[in-house]
Amino acid sequence: MSVTPMMAQYLEIKDAHKDALLFYRMGDFYEMFFDDAVAAAEALDIALTKRGKHDGADIPMCGVPVHAAEGYLLTLIRKGFRVGVCEQLESPAEAKKRGSKSVVKRDVVRIVTPGTLTEETLLEARKHNFLAAFSVVRDESALAWADMSTGSVQVMSLPQTRLGAELARLSPAELIVSEANAQDLRYLEEDFGIALTDLPRSAFDSTAAETRLKDVYSVQSLDAFGQFSRAEVAALGAVVSYIDLTQKGNLPLLLPPKQEAQNRTVQIDAATRRNLELTQSMSGGRAGSLLSVIDMTATAPGARLLEQRLSSPSRDHDLIADRLDGVSYFVNHTALAEDLRSALRAVPDLERAISRLSLDRGGPRDLGAVRKALEQAGALSQLLAAQDDLPKSVSDPLTDLQGREHILDQLDEMLVAELPLHVRDGGFIAPGAHEELDEARTLRDEGRSVIASMQQKYQSLTDVSSLKIKHNNVLGYFVETTATHAERMMSAPLSDTFIHRQTTANQVRFTTVELSDLEARIQSAGDQAQGIEKALFEELRHLVVSMAAELHQTSRALAALDVLVALANLATRENWTRPIVDDSRSFDIVAGRHPVVEASLKRQSGDEFIANSCDLGGDGDAASIWLLTGPNMSGKSTFLRQNALIAILAQIGSYVPAERAHIGSVSQIFSRVGASDDLARGRSTFMVEMVETAAILNQSDDRALVILDEIGRGTSTYDGLSIAWATLEHLHDVNRCRALFATHYHELTVLAGKLDGVKNATVAVKEWEGDVIFLHEVREGSADRSYGVQVAKLAGLPKSVIARARTVLDALEKGSREGKANPSTIIDDLPLFSVAPSAAPTDASETSPVVELLEEIQPDDLSPRDALDLIYKLKAAS
Ligand code: ADP
Repeated sequence: MSVTPMMAQYLEIKDAHKDALLFYRMGDFYEMFFDDAVAAAEALDIALTKRGKHDGADIPMCGVPVHAAEGYLLTLIRKGFRVGVCEQLESPAEAKKRGSKSVVKRDVVRIVTPGTLTEETLLEARKHNFLAAFSVVRDESALAWADMSTGSVQVMSLPQTRLGAELARLSPAELIVSEANAQDLRYLEEDFGIALTDLPRSAFDSTAAETRLKDVYSVQSLDAFGQFSRAEVAALGAVVSYIDLTQKGNLPLLLPPKQEAQNRTVQIDAATRRNLELTQSMSGGRAGSLLSVIDMTATAPGARLLEQRLSSPSRDHDLIADRLDGVSYFVNHTALAEDLRSALRAVPDLERAISRLSLDRGGPRDLGAVRKALEQAGALSQLLAAQDDLPKSVSDPLTDLQGREHILDQLDEMLVAELPLHVRDGGFIAPGAHEELDEARTLRDEGRSVIASMQQKYQSLTDVSSLKIKHNNVLGYFVETTATHAERMMSAPLSDTFIHRQTTANQVRFTTVELSDLEARIQSAGDQAQGIEKALFEELRHLVVSMAAELHQTSRALAALDVLVALANLATRENWTRPIVDDSRSFDIVAGRHPVVEASLKRQSGDEFIANSCDLGGDGDAASIWLLTGPNMSGKSTFLRQNALIAILAQIGSYVPAERAHIGSVSQIFSRVGASDDLARGRSTFMVEMVETAAILNQSDDRALVILDEIGRGTSTYDGLSIAWATLEHLHDVNRCRALFATHYHELTVLAGKLDGVKNATVAVKEWEGDVIFLHEVREGSADRSYGVQVAKLAGLPKSVIARARTVLDALEKGSREGKANPSTIIDDLPLFSVAPSAAPTDASETSPVVELLEEIQPDDLSPRDALDLIYKLKAAS
């Protein structure tokens, strides 16, 4: 069976892009066929239709209008598809010229994937969009990542064991791996929600990569950018080839690769990031994260820089001190900071505008963004230049705000104030900017006014006062009268002038030689104006692209200032303090607070957050490990996390929520919470907990900060206690790190007496008329009991269950005091459970289900959580 020429073309293009959905341009639509259509119709929830037959079967088809394509693209990308955008490369008229049967030339101009987006509508303004590649070359490996929308490129050597941690830090949208390792790395897709793309081994060939990189950056040797390992070169090469592949050879501007050393930043693994909710809350969104509370930046690039700093706190004391000097400066110059903030608010996203312009995907508004950003940079630099005591972190960016005046002048001179979105809309070049353009425009506009006088002339000539000259896209300009005049218009002498074009139900339409001439003149003047504007746009685009590296510096400088000013604003508003970060082993936080919990208390109940101090200082005899006990809900987890967050904030160069903080810089942070449900990943929760604990014990060095919350809770009491015990000893004797260890095993508190570096602390509660009142105060010492029953009461368990639980608890405690080892003998002595006297079993020989349940349990094996569950069961059985 023969295939239509168009279908033949479709199949050929599709064959070359098997792993992508093909958006096949047909006029004003992108059409999809066959399996693509079925998949897209379902993913987009649009109608699936048919078009013609192939091999005797209907061809499924669906389509989306071109003007609305971006929204559909985004949905498809989010659902894990890649989309090949196949455009018409010539007009139908051009195709006809080649032969009457010719199909319009088409080809894929771009493959849209999660890591290669550039459109404003497809990107989140305040987040990076990284494309990463992981390479393995013999026993070396490396990770490279680029943000195509801003041009940044980075690379680091990275053992495969640390890949997860780095992916958690960068959260790239897409990871490229060689097909040789794809199988081993497939799990990343699920663990990190990353789209994994495998490329043939050749894409990771380090020799080819080197040649390609030299070519892209126009350098003789990559040494110009640093000393790169083979694996680093391979990873960079893979990123660049993939961009080339998806952009069909249209490379965006890429900045020189920056090498990141692993030991320059605090290492924070994936579980710790999740746990501390640095940039994302446990539920996955930004809301509820530390970032959401501290981000007061005014610009999108500023927000991205802050996110990046928070994801990779520094270990460089000088750098931290410089940044803190900058924040202090603005804390002390609030009026200046306020002026800067208002100037920053008007700064558009310069980086992304440049990237679109360099990919030739930009429009007049992107030029406008460059103009506005430079204008604002000028305003900011004036504000700052008037100061004479600027610290380094402010004066450094200041230099990059200056020296771009010639671009600004040119854009200012050439562009009108309100710019259209597309070049084809025209009208963006200012009058007076270009002589020839002005002339063409005058001709075009004059032509339009000539039309008005021509209409008058025709009205008197025909004696038809309702005669109009109109315009539409099919006929162009035409003369229109009502049908009543048709006959007269179409007979001599009027028919000498008016040439009939069309009759509709109520109207007749004519043209005249004069009108056609005029139209041709207007048309050609319009075309000419459009052509000139297009050429001028290209000139300006090249100007911007040729200065892209400098403009990127300006953009980074604006972002850096934005972050300093925003952090200063936060510090002032929230009453934060400047921390001291140095090389010591100090960890002395006085009256620290948890910024996220504090903010949510303020929002929800208006309750005060109780500040707590923490001293894990190695100086003198202070303990470096605190063992924290206290009932559930007393604030243990909050305290643990707030100390980690304060260290992180200090090391990004921010003020911290405390009265005072002195932190000997931290190299790694580990945070683990004892088995919470991780069923989604189908692993035993206890196993996960142990694997994670093992990672800490194997990796922490003496500068690490370790936070363990209820480790060992996922197994029976004795097992859990022994594991927690041994873990604590290992941290103390072997890792020698600073640590906070929260536990409900009160037995552990005796360790404080045995190990010099361990101190007991507890979150205080008050008991009042059988209720527990949480004071949220961390004090030296240990909790005497766990108050589980009181907490259960607060949670709203029925009174009868609480009363019964109390009886059981009293009996168990009494039994243990009296040295009765076997809980079942204690339970035998208990009076039976009763909700009300009448509800008690009447026949004594019939065992109550509650008693049966109680007989089954081994109280020694119960964690407080299990006990609570048991109370629920007891209630259900009663
Ligand atoms: P735990 O880990 O001991 O079960 P959490 O740390 O989860 O307790 O704290 C429970 C709740 O107590 C928090 O959600 C918060 O509302 C409140 N809370 C904790 N610490 C404080 C504090 N220092 N000041 C005020 N409220 C606090």
